[in-house]
Amino acid sequence: MIIIGSGCAGNTAAIYTARANLNPLAIIGHEPGGQLAITTEVENFPGFPEGIQGPDLVENMKKQAERFGAEYIYGSVLEADLRNKPLRLNIDGEWHETRTLIIASGASARLLGLPNEQKLIGHGVSSCATCDGAFYKDRKVIVVGGGDSAMEEANFLTRFASQVTLVHRREHFRASKIMLERARANPKIRFLSSTVVDDVFDVAQNSVTSVKLRNVESGESWTEEVDGFFLAIGHIPNTKPFQGQIDLDHDGYIVSHGGARTNISGVFHAGDVQDRTYRQAITAAGMGCMAAIEAERYLEAEGH
Ligand SMILES: Cc1cc2nc3c(=O)[nH]c(=O)nc-3n(C[C@H](O)[C@H](O)[C@H](O)COP(=O)(O)OP(=O)(O)OC[C@H]3O[C@@H](n4cnc5c(N)ncnc54)[C@H](O)[C@@H]3O)c2cc1C
Repeated sequence: MIIIGSGCAGNTAAIYTARANLNPLAIIGHEPGGQLAITTEVENFPGFPEGIQGPDLVENMKKQAERFGAEYIYGSVLEADLRNKPLRLNIDGEWHETRTLIIASGASARLLGLPNEQKLIGHGVSSCATCDGAFYKDRKVIVVGGGDSAMEEANFLTRFASQVTLVHRREHFRASKIMLERARANPKIRFLSSTVVDDVFDVAQNSVTSVKLRNVESGESWTEEVDGFFLAIGHIPNTKPFQGQIDLDHDGYIVSHGGARTNISGVFHAGDVQDRTYRQAITAAGMGCMAAIEAERYLEAEGH
């Protein structure tokens, strides 16, 4: 049994399959601990009334899995051959065989590529309003994006923030009419179209204090004070090694075939690699549990 990923989904799948005596091998990937490992405080994962640091939460999950015998290895899946059994994975150049596979390789938020952006992730730069909105009560925030998710994030953030500025590089927003109208009707949302962000500050203070903006038509450039910087320009699911074998949708997310099943028997999905709707630690963990139980039943039905 191989699990791809060491985020909430992969770790939960590892806990369940280890406790079912399936000797899981978890592949850590390029981001040990997954997305939560790059954030700070997590306040919405059940069981932690005072909140918990993201890296501690995923590390605890890993230790819990290891306690029951799960094994973790550093490395990334580069290629997969899922057409025959046993299933085969190329992990950093070496082929491994497995009877069953849980893909929990997550998704990465699209970034703008600004010089300071990555250094401030978890310190004012966020890609998840549901996760971090509550930290911005009576503060000013910026949301970057022009689609439905940008409108949704902006609207949600007005529950807390005193002002939400929606920045979009084009003149027209590609969000659906209804979402755009809802955002336009919200007095707390200010629209800045034909505008790009050139950088976000201040790394020295380890928190977001301002952004540098530029109007692409006039070329005018200015700095604005803000407390939060939300990216709503989409996510990239980590499914490249499975292209052409696992059913993926037009954005590359795994298409579920019911429960945690993919189109290939013995291959299951868990977490953000399939979930484009909720994208939360708790839902990813829940799906890790589902995939583990399904993998266990699959192996039993196969006579293992
Ligand atoms: C900054 C930030 C803050 C967040 N805050 C919260 C919060 O407060 N509350 C909340 O509920 N959610 C929060 N989220 C969302 C939450 O982190 C995700 O929903 C959750 O991590 C998804 O878990 P996952 O296991 O599906 O995927 P991920 O966490 O994305 O983990 C994917 C794993 O797969 C591995 N991987 C990828 N490709 C390969 C490969 N080819 N081979 C091997 N391994 C691979 C990666 O190394 C990684 O370990 C936040 C997200 C971000 C980015």
